Amino acid sequence: MNGNRVRDEIKAELAPRIAALTARGRRPGLAVVLVGHNPASQIYVRNKMKACEDLGIHSETITPPESIASDELAAVIEELNARADIDGILVQLPLPPQLDAKRILLEIAPDKDADGLHPYNVGCLVAGLPGPRACTPAGILELLARYQIPVAGKRAVVVGRSDIVGKPVALLLLHAHATVTICHSKTTDLAGICRQADILVAAMGRPASITRDFIQPGATVIDVGTNHVTDRELVARIFRGSAERLAAFDKRGSLLVGDVHPLDVAERAGAYSPVPGGVGPLTIAMLMVNTVAAAEKKELSHR
Ligand code: NAP
Repeated sequence: MNGNRVRDEIKAELAPRIAALTARGRRPGLAVVLVGHNPASQIYVRNKMKACEDLGIHSETITPPESIASDELAAVIEELNARADIDGILVQLPLPPQLDAKRILLEIAPDKDADGLHPYNVGCLVAGLPGPRACTPAGILELLARYQIPVAGKRAVVVGRSDIVGKPVALLLLHAHATVTICHSKTTDLAGICRQADILVAAMGRPASITRDFIQPGATVIDVGTNHVTDRELVARIFRGSAERLAAFDKRGSLLVGDVHPLDVAERAGAYSPVPGGVGPLTIAMLMVNTVAAAEKKELSHR
């Protein structure tokens, strides 16, 4: 399953909606709050800004210092909540240790919650009410829908129970009428449970750990993991000595590997999302969807 292709489809569908809003003087706007200098976060935020720019969404990055206190950060968000030109607000995680991410997310006005992580919106997800959905899980459901993978009545297994991926994707699959099992680090017989899955979602942050024994032949496998592997021996083991992969590793000093074993999944699965180029591109696309939807909703409520 090609996430880049689906991302391009989603962006093409958004373009006329953005053009219509802009023509009515309501250009959508996204503000990203990036605290400190985490290099991975800086790359993610740059990619989000680039996607906004490509689509003509107004975007700005607010970069408070690493040492900012909770109250000061709350004041930054309060200001964004009050701005008419900002429809979506995203606080890039992780935050420095003095800040409580759960408390900070509560400060975002739920109708500007571009990441869909505010507890109000999580409640809407649980209750099946409309609202912004967490971007990576929403992207996974888009991928399944656009590849016409049947979900209703199927057995789905989600490995990982985080607030940003595991729990919300399990709920979205449940709403799509799958029979859902959620696994985590204390699950016993993980391979046996995974092998029952028609749809297997791996979101653990453990490189190539879903191997052939975990995959029912013909299953659909969604790999959410993004692991930057820096151990050359591990790369050699995962890719069975592939000279091409080792050369790529040697060039960069690391290699991006999913949670699913890349060679095993290609042999066993009926359909699968690769890393890179699977779920990753959809996360940003769904952030754009949430921002545009928030702008449209605001315009309607002001009519
Ligand atoms: P997380 O918060 O660290 O959660 C990991 C989950 O996996 C936890 O629930 C943990 O169980 C479970 N787990 C860990 N080791 C396990 C094992 N050996 N067996 C079974 N379960 C295990 O991670 P996350 O934020 O959900 O992210 C997961 C992965 O997805 C990471 O690689 C992350 O980089 C990637 N990601 C990618 C995107 C994207 O756009 N492509 C977006 C978000 C995340 P416990 O709860 O018991 O600890």
